[in-house]
Amino acid sequence: MVSTDTRPECFHEYENVMDRYCAAYLCIHCGYHKDLARCYCGWSLTGLDGREELEQFGENVEDNF
Ligand SMILES: [Zn+2]
Ligand SMILES: [Zn+2]
Repeated sequence: MVSTDTRPECFHEYENVMDRYCAAYLCIHCGYHKDLARCYCGWSLTGLDGREELEQFGENVEDNF
């Protein structure tokens, strides 16, 4: 479960591996997704539902993870 709480003060540190679920580099402190604004896991820069945002952008969101 990725926290959707954004921590503007966080300096972001990333593990050396991509998250298996997100295929992105996640900050080990706050869950920030490197180079992403929103993600299928529901994370979003805005703190809203990233998955919903992706759907609004017309992305094909798959349910079979
Ligand atoms: Zn961070
Ligand atoms: Zn994610």
